[in-house]
Amino acid sequence: MTLPFSLKDITIHPVIEQQGVFFDALGFFPALTKDLLDEDRAWLQPAFVDANDRLVLCIQSFVIKTARHKILIDACVGNHKPRPSRPFWNMLNSDRFEKGLAAAGLAVHDIDYVMCTHLHTDHVGWNTRLENGRWVPTFPNATYIMADRELAHWTQREKENPQDVPWITDSVLPIIAAKRAKLVKSDFVFNDQIQFIPTPGHTIDHYSVLVGRAGADVLITGDMIHSPLQGKYPELGMMADYDSAQAGKTRRKVFDRFCEESTIMCATHFPTPSTGHVRRWGDGYKFIAVAD
Ligand SMILES: [Zn+2]
Repeated sequence: MTLPFSLKDITIHPVIEQQGVFFDALGFFPALTKDLLDEDRAWLQPAFVDANDRLVLCIQSFVIKTARHKILIDACVGNHKPRPSRPFWNMLNSDRFEKGLAAAGLAVHDIDYVMCTHLHTDHVGWNTRLENGRWVPTFPNATYIMADRELAHWTQREKENPQDVPWITDSVLPIIAAKRAKLVKSDFVFNDQIQFIPTPGHTIDHYSVLVGRAGADVLITGDMIHSPLQGKYPELGMMADYDSAQAGKTRRKVFDRFCEESTIMCATHFPTPSTGHVRRWGDGYKFIAVAD
């Protein structure tokens, strides 16, 4: 199923900032071996891994439009942000995010809520924008919903070593200072159509977002999964995980719950269309494209 698509009275739009190769698969998944990759190369290439064993990833947000609300899930990398350790995200100056919003019929002032699945650099960037040398909320009318333990963890890290987490300094703390954040538990129920599911492991208090009603619903994964390879091998951790063992348990729990359901997965970092049903596959899980 190609985005945007509708669930009765809800529409989900992708807002894509970047799609391409960013990381070597073997470095991104530290426990991945060349042998294992050889076994899986046939189904991974070319969509998910390129000819040089680099992962094809999408950097995107999703907009949920309901009758009452316009909600942004995650906020990509953002513009003008110094990211010296990630050259492909350093000091971006791109209109793709804004154009993606416009394609969904929206401008920044239309967004009522920003839901932050977790506080990594490629998920919080557009939380803020540069105005007269200061970082201010990009979405002037939005409340930003963050998990309380996630924020506490990153706030502490920023206090100890700000140079290690520049995205917290420029894209998270200004939201707190502007009093635009709402702190919740990672099982927060937003309303009868939208609720969070705790998906810890990739970060300390990561959440995914379940949208719609049973039988016509979508799970926006955030980073509980990065590549379908982590479906086939749920225990495969990625380099930036807080606790890869916990992340593996989370994947099994979530995929077990949804593998016989009609729920559509919107896997944030999967290349477009980024959507599919999850189904059992040996000891793991695969993603089956959904027909339009
Ligand atoms: Zn992440």
